[in-house]
Amino acid sequence: VGGIQPLTTIDFPGRLACVLFLKGCNLRCSYCHNPEFLEATGPTEYTWDQVGAFLERRKTFLDGVVLSGGEPTVHCNLEDAITRIRTMGFEIALHTNGCFPDRLETLIKGKLLDYVALDIKAPFGEYGLVTSIGDGKGVAESIRLLSESGVSYEVRTTVHPDLLSDGNIMQIASTLKKYRVPRFFLQMFKHGRIFDPGLSHPSSAYLKPSTLDQLRQDFPEFSVREN
Ligand code: SF4
Repeated sequence: VGGIQPLTTIDFPGRLACVLFLKGCNLRCSYCHNPEFLEATGPTEYTWDQVGAFLERRKTFLDGVVLSGGEPTVHCNLEDAITRIRTMGFEIALHTNGCFPDRLETLIKGKLLDYVALDIKAPFGEYGLVTSIGDGKGVAESIRLLSESGVSYEVRTTVHPDLLSDGNIMQIASTLKKYRVPRFFLQMFKHGRIFDPGLSHPSSAYLKPSTLDQLRQDFPEFSVREN
């Protein structure tokens, strides 16, 4: 566990929660804000015993725990960690890039998840625009699993205007509509320390108002978040 955010009111809708940032990620997104969490190896900030002690102190105050990263599903012992946290009485939200649908399916079938926020990086055939893999086939399967799971979920896309165009966003939206995704959120990249420093200050224009208007009509819940 590379970091703990003691309180969030926005990452787990309707719940007071903390966020655990798990180190290690299979992707290398150009705009990644957490480059220090990309490698799973190296000194960790918190052992699971320390995390357990932290949660024990907070359990009368918090409803849930958000597992974020990095990418939580790269860890083969994630199921055990979630089970341990649930046993303490917390609900679980998972933030994931969706690249490992088999692992997501195991968590869904085990009824270990109460909320999932799934990142879509780019149109499925063009993942290379943003990250280190060429396509998002595994991510498409994760969306299918979620859409049939009964688990409450959202899909979100970070918009870096030098990487994704209005057309790319509408391509993503078109795919999500086929799966009847209920919640789609855009996170507008602003600036900051990121994996590719050459992209830290976008030079292109952000999405057109007409694109945002169309997306508001296309999804039951849609909004733009500042990132
Ligand atoms: S932004 Fe990309 S590289 Fe960074 S943690 Fe998320 S999935 Fe991994």
